[in-house]
Amino acid sequence: MKTHGNEIALLMIGSTNYYTGQSFPLKKITELGHKHSCMVGFDLAHGAGNIQPNLHETGADFAVWCTYKYLNSGPGSLGGCFVHERHANNEKLNRFAGWWGHNKKTRFNMRHEFDALPGAEGWQLSNPPILSMAAIRASLDTFAKAGFENLRKKSEKLTGFLEFLLDEMNNDSIKIITPRNPEERGCQLSIQVKNADKSLHTKLTKAGVISDWREPDVIRVAPAPLYNSFEDVFRFSEKLKEVLN
Ligand SMILES: *Cc1c(COP(=O)(O)O)cnc(C)c1O
Repeated sequence: MKTHGNEIALLMIGSTNYYTGQSFPLKKITELGHKHSCMVGFDLAHGAGNIQPNLHETGADFAVWCTYKYLNSGPGSLGGCFVHERHANNEKLNRFAGWWGHNKKTRFNMRHEFDALPGAEGWQLSNPPILSMAAIRASLDTFAKAGFENLRKKSEKLTGFLEFLLDEMNNDSIKIITPRNPEERGCQLSIQVKNADKSLHTKLTKAGVISDWREPDVIRVAPAPLYNSFEDVFRFSEKLKEVLN
């Protein structure tokens, strides 16, 4: 940023890295970007429903996310976006505009100029897919009922338990590449396995574990507090032991 900051128009990174599981300090990054007059946005694909991003507070200009990972809405479902309140009524801001974002009173007059609705409504594009919206609604209702703070508390314990069990294995062929500090991660731990290939992941899958393999040598596991238990985490560690042996 120090060297090239003033040439950079947009600073955009994942809030939570898909590979390592590392979560970044969004406010700090935003302040740094703004200091150099950059627009700052975050990709919350691995953050939404996982970490508490407090987007408004970070001051970020915008953020985007999908809803089919931690938010459980099913593949192909709608994405989401956040635009900071300070841009809400800026009609000059370039936007991907659609007729659902147009002033409702004149929407059907089919005039050439776009008259954006103030606030979030002004970014609506078109008719939303209702079945996908229903899945998101059901999922968000469940999140609301559980309370995000409760989920986050459980998540820190679940992932901490997973970390503990992996450390206890005392196995030199595995290494956690996700930060150790709970504030710098969400649910996920990425486990690097020495000399492993995808057959390791296949064995885990056959043992009933739903995890993920990333080339060249990383297993991603993410106990989700909404539906995973401490017992699930324990059973995973037992299966991993078996498979590594
Ligand atoms: C899943 C994911 C997305 C969202 O991708 P879709 O096109 O909505 O499937 C974006 N960024 C990252 C890093 C992801 O892992």
